[in-house]
Formats: sequence, structure tokens, C-alpha cells
Amino acid sequence: MEHSPLSLAQSLLRCPSVTPEEGGALSFIESVLKQAGFEVHRPVFSEPGTPDVENLYARYGTGEPYLLFAGHTDVVPPGDVGRWTHDPFGGEIHDGELYGRGAVDMKGGIACMMAAALDFIRDNPDFKGSIGFLITGDEEGPAVNGTVKLLEWAKGRGERFDHCILGEPTNPNQLGDMIKIGRRGSLTGSIVVEGKQGHVAYPHLADNPIPGMMRLLDGLLKEPLDRGTDHFDASNLEVTTIDVGNPASNVIPAEAKATFNIRFNDLWTPRSLEAEIERRLREAAGNTVRYTLTMEPTNAVAFLTPPNAFVDFIADAIKAETGSVPKLSTTGGTSDARFIVKYCPVVEFGLVGQTMHQIDERVPVADLDRLATIYRKVLDAYFSA
Ligand SMILES: [Zn+2]
Repeated sequence: MEHSPLSLAQSLLRCPSVTPEEGGALSFIESVLKQAGFEVHRPVFSEPGTPDVENLYARYGTGEPYLLFAGHTDVVPPGDVGRWTHDPFGGEIHDGELYGRGAVDMKGGIACMMAAALDFIRDNPDFKGSIGFLITGDEEGPAVNGTVKLLEWAKGRGERFDHCILGEPTNPNQLGDMIKIGRRGSLTGSIVVEGKQGHVAYPHLADNPIPGMMRLLDGLLKEPLDRGTDHFDASNLEVTTIDVGNPASNVIPAEAKATFNIRFNDLWTPRSLEAEIERRLREAAGNTVRYTLTMEPTNAVAFLTPPNAFVDFIADAIKAETGSVPKLSTTGGTSDARFIVKYCPVVEFGLVGQTMHQIDERVPVADLDRLATIYRKVLDAYFSA
């Protein structure tokens, strides 16, 4: 490959693009893609109360089908730089591993996508179809001025994608372990039970909110929300905190608060889940517990890209390169795929996630070459289908 995934990754790692700084990373991608014949745009998005963020959109070709690569060049801060074995923004290689913040999450992934696309275009300059890059600088931050707005902006220009690969690090242990074909949704709520403060020796003059809170939480937890689906684990409700804040052992507190988070599968929408929570609390409270429920707004809905020919292209390419049959998974936290899926089917496959966000984030150079080869095989299969 003319642009090796390693050299591209090193150049990207040397750009200090901690959210929301562009750090030169998008400019580097712009110059490389332009040279290869891509039309490149650099929209900047703003929103009161959040930093302005630079983004990149690039397209080669005008035909269909249109395969989009998506990702982010922003990275989380390096933490204590003194604890890194190698400069987090140096792009240094040691013992066959490339060190740097973003090595796996996800400048390494972007480098592999670029190397594969450039290689494919050089071999097939007149292929029937289009290849695009949708790269944000706002994934690790508030995620307000990034992928959501970039997708809207592209739609406004009349862009229409057929499929998307998001290059987040999806493999738990080894390259080829896992493709993500969906993600769970996330919903957070909090409950406040009102009581009346008083002396513990005179409970008839007070109203302790703690037993009421216990009843409510028991009502939420005693039955599972569901038993999972073909591609999803069972939805899970975790109580994340219970707060009374009472320092005295002789005082009945006035109020108890609890917060919970639900990671839910495709049997639920945030609205249907909220209705179920309300139903359970009403039932548990009866006429005796006075409480208020507050649900936080969420944009993290559950989604699934059902296994299909597109997923097969990726799984087959992985098998050909690594010998592994990847697990089709919907586990883990949320990702920008939840925004992309509103525009086209999206599948996530990238590097091994083990060192992401850690001190000494690093990637085996061999993994970069193999991932680029996998993406290249996907392009071959996709555009010859
Ligand atoms: Zn990431």
C-alpha cells in the first residue's frame, strides 16, 4: 500500500487532537484524501455552551453504491504524561507496537480505512460506486457538534449512504473477535421520596423516607425487564446510587434520593421503558409512598443492523485474514453508530480495545496491516457484488 497504515497512523498520532482540539489531524486527512481525488469538506459546528468543533466529510466518486467510513480523530487526554513509556503524541514504535493516545481509539482505525480506500482506488480508479469518510472531532466530548450535525449537513447536501463501517475498537482480545451489529440504548432516571425529618425516638412525629425508597427500588428490581432477544442480552437496570446524606444517628431524614441507569435492548424504546418504570413505581408505592420520578432525556436508543450480506462481507474478510469467525455482538456502551443508523445500516469493526483510554495506549503494527487488509477485502467484495 502506497500510504501504509503505519505511516498514516503515526502522522495522526502526532497531532495532539484532545477534544475539542483539531490538532492538525483533520488537516492531515484532508491533504491525503484530496491528493487521492476525494472531494473534501471541513464543516465547523457550534452550539451555545459547547466548544466549536471541526469535522471532515470526504467523498470519492458519484455513483452507487455508496460505502461510508466513519470515525473520530479526537482523543481523550493522555493523563499523567510522565507515566507513559513513550510520548503519547510521538507516534513511537517499540517492540512492534505503535504507542500513542488514539492508537486504537481510533486514529489507528482511521489510518487503516484510509490506507484501504487509497489502495482500492489506485487499483480501481473508475469503480462503480462511491467511498466516503465522515470524521468528527467531537466523539469523546459532548458529542453535540460532531456526527449528529455532520450527518444532517450531508443530508442537506443531498448525500445518501448505502452502508457504513464505523472503525471503533470492537475486538476484546484479538483482531477478528467481534463485530458490533447493534448497541443497547441507555436511559437514566432518579427518584426522590419525600418524608418528614424528626427525632428517632419520636418516629410518630416524623416520616422516614427510607423504607418507602426500599419498596420502590424493590418494585423496580424484582422482575427482569425482559429475557433478551436473538441478538441482545436482557435489558438491565442498575441502581447507581442511593443518597440520604444524613450524618446523625438520632435523626430521621427528610428525603431519600436514588438514581438508576438502564441499558436496554431492541424490545424497548425510551418511551415504552419510561412507561414501564412508572407502572412499577406506582404499583410499589401504593397509597403510602410519596415520590417523584425524573427521567433524563436520552438520544441513546437501541438499534440493530440484522445480519445480512453487508455483515457477511465483513465477517468473510475477517475470516480470510485472521482465520477467526467474529462474534456478532451488541454489547458495550453507546457509540456514534446510534446516530448513523438513522441514515443507513451501520456495522462497527476496528482494532483491539484493550488499551483504549489508558496510559500507554498502543497497537501492534501487525494489527494495523491486518485491519487495513480486512477493510480492503471488504471494499473488493462490496463493489464487485
Ligand atoms: Zn472511539
